[in-house]
Amino acid sequence: MVLFQRCALKNLILPSPYCRGWGVLPVSKSYITEFAFFLLLGHRCTGYSTISGIPGVRERTLIAVKPDGVQRRLVGQIMQRFEQKGFKLVGMKMLQASEELLSQHYQELRRKPFYPSLLYYMTSGPIVVMVWEGHNVVRTSRIIVGDTNPSEAQAGTVRGDFSIHISRNVVHASDSVEGAQREIQLWFHQKELMDWDCYNHNSTYEL
Ligand code: UDP
Ligand code: MG
Repeated sequence: MVLFQRCALKNLILPSPYCRGWGVLPVSKSYITEFAFFLLLGHRCTGYSTISGIPGVRERTLIAVKPDGVQRRLVGQIMQRFEQKGFKLVGMKMLQASEELLSQHYQELRRKPFYPSLLYYMTSGPIVVMVWEGHNVVRTSRIIVGDTNPSEAQAGTVRGDFSIHISRNVVHASDSVEGAQREIQLWFHQKELMDWDCYNHNSTYEL
């Protein structure tokens, strides 16, 4: 009932899925018709509620286009992989990462022999960091990104398609749900992340 009320209110204010985010609209005849439809058929006839029966639908992961990816103008193609899959972008920014931030990000790798060259690489130019949201997004993103070593990465993955050597593998993806939460907090302030409703949410998920 609470869900019903929330949807009813939401859809009276923003009656068409295509109008989400435009603010309060005048209630015209067609909106009233649509609202009447909503009352008859319930929430399935209109947009979506952020309350969903699918577990983990709000899971988030950190994806970063590394300096080589930015220099090679691959940002758009990498983002497209996540958009076409159906994940939702909830945060994005371009920045020059500091060594301090990277040492926290790569805290488990500090003792590895390649760590100094990893720092040099990651500070060699701007990176684009993003937060993507959706069911199983952490695990699925690792599949989209491919093996750490591009020579092992499958064709069709980002690393498989766009890189050759492990030292220049174009993209970062969190490797666990807990790791993703830690990394997102490290790279983003809460206010930089957007909660927004996809108008086609119920074409992607069963409600
Ligand atoms: N890396 C490297 N040489 C190695 C292993 C890793 O340069 O032998 C770099 C590479 O850029 C990799 C990053 O360190 O993406 C982080 O390593 P991790 O094992 O966490 O791989 P990832 O999670 O990125 O697949
Ligand atoms: Mg890793």
